Amino acid sequence: MTTEEEALVRANDRSHVFHSWSVQGAINPMPVAGGLGSEFWDYDGKRYLDFGAQLVNLNLGHQHPALIAAIHAQADRLATIQPALANDVRGELAALVTDAAGESFAKVFFTNGGADANENAVRMARLFTGKRKVMAMYRSYHGSTSTAISLTGDPRRWANEPSDPSVVHFHGPYPYRSPFYSDGPEQETERALEYLEQTIVLEGAATIGAILIETIVGTNGVLVPPPGYLKGVRALCDKYGIVYIADEVMVGFGRTGEMFAYQAHDVVPDLVTFAKGINSGYVPLGGVIISRAIAEYFDDKMFPGGLTYSGHPLACAVGVATFGVFERDGILAHVKDMGERVVEPILKGWLEKHPCVGDVRGVGLFWAIELVKDKATREPLVPFNASGADAAPMAAFVAACKAAGLWPFAHFNRTHVCPPLVITEEELRRGLAIIDDALTVVDRALTV
Ligand code: PLP
Repeated sequence: MTTEEEALVRANDRSHVFHSWSVQGAINPMPVAGGLGSEFWDYDGKRYLDFGAQLVNLNLGHQHPALIAAIHAQADRLATIQPALANDVRGELAALVTDAAGESFAKVFFTNGGADANENAVRMARLFTGKRKVMAMYRSYHGSTSTAISLTGDPRRWANEPSDPSVVHFHGPYPYRSPFYSDGPEQETERALEYLEQTIVLEGAATIGAILIETIVGTNGVLVPPPGYLKGVRALCDKYGIVYIADEVMVGFGRTGEMFAYQAHDVVPDLVTFAKGINSGYVPLGGVIISRAIAEYFDDKMFPGGLTYSGHPLACAVGVATFGVFERDGILAHVKDMGERVVEPILKGWLEKHPCVGDVRGVGLFWAIELVKDKATREPLVPFNASGADAAPMAAFVAACKAAGLWPFAHFNRTHVCPPLVITEEELRRGLAIIDDALTVVDRALTV
């Protein structure tokens, strides 16, 4: 039943809200009445388990009492202050973040989100090296502002072109659909690094200031780098005087069971960009974690960049509270446990059970299920960048999930399992059972 309140939300939205990444007349966003933990609900009280954690940012779930309390307390003390002044929570959060990132990091430049974090990381790298070109991967997403969308290696860039001509794209590892025709992870690492080095040499190492890589490619497929790949990238950056920027906007702050995903790959970047999980998006916040060497470079040189809301106290207070919750509730251990004991065995079982499941991969609470028409040929269930009628089989999967009370993350021919990190085992198993049933719907469509 449609309530008057819901009708008003819908009417205002349709008349006055201009939405991201949409044909405005083709959408009808669902009005949301509330949320708690890993669920949110509509105006009829229908509840959805949030298996995308909104946009993979809601790491501590909806309405976490400690985060809400931090906003209230900070609002009572000092709701805002400009970035040129020193502020207690801003400094406290910067110290917590640099400590968590590792001893080679000294400072944090705060931004409003992930795109501007990448913009500013690239700006720093260009100034530090005196070299302008930046390399980034195909199958990547780095944000929708000017440089960040140029760096992006997926169709969201196409509609924004012509893009920054100083960006060079390259293929990263993707063992299931190897661009290097490799026969497994070891060869994938070897060939991907060989190809990257050739690209650097042919582009001219003397022109390349930075390589920007999502530590684990997020929206474009939860592509966990095979062993040794990131170490190899680090070595190439050292060899050719290139700044290694790790985009940890999606994977940072616990998504993989580490505070930062690079920490499982025995590698230390020069700059790390973050957003989303730093404070679960309760108040917009992102930033760049800066190595000691790059921070010192700016000790006697001006950094030509800034944002009115850099290090906003409300946002930083939620960040500080987030660290408290991680510590108190053992979030990282919970993520590892849920990933290893619950998600991984269930998803791997689907490889046998479901004709439409071609590949499953991931770590912690960050997994992709890649759907195919045919396991042998690996033909994707829907074409790359499918929309409209072409995307119908995925739309049917999404509809089946939603009808059963789960809000899935779906992109091209994949669904991702990336719920809030606070999800309980019962909720996780319930959600996976819903996906299991929805996959059966896809299987059936394949055989008719
Ligand atoms: N980098 C990655 C890896 C992301 O996943 C995103 C957003 O999804 C961004 C950057 C951009 O962040 P924002 O939307 O906060 O600008």
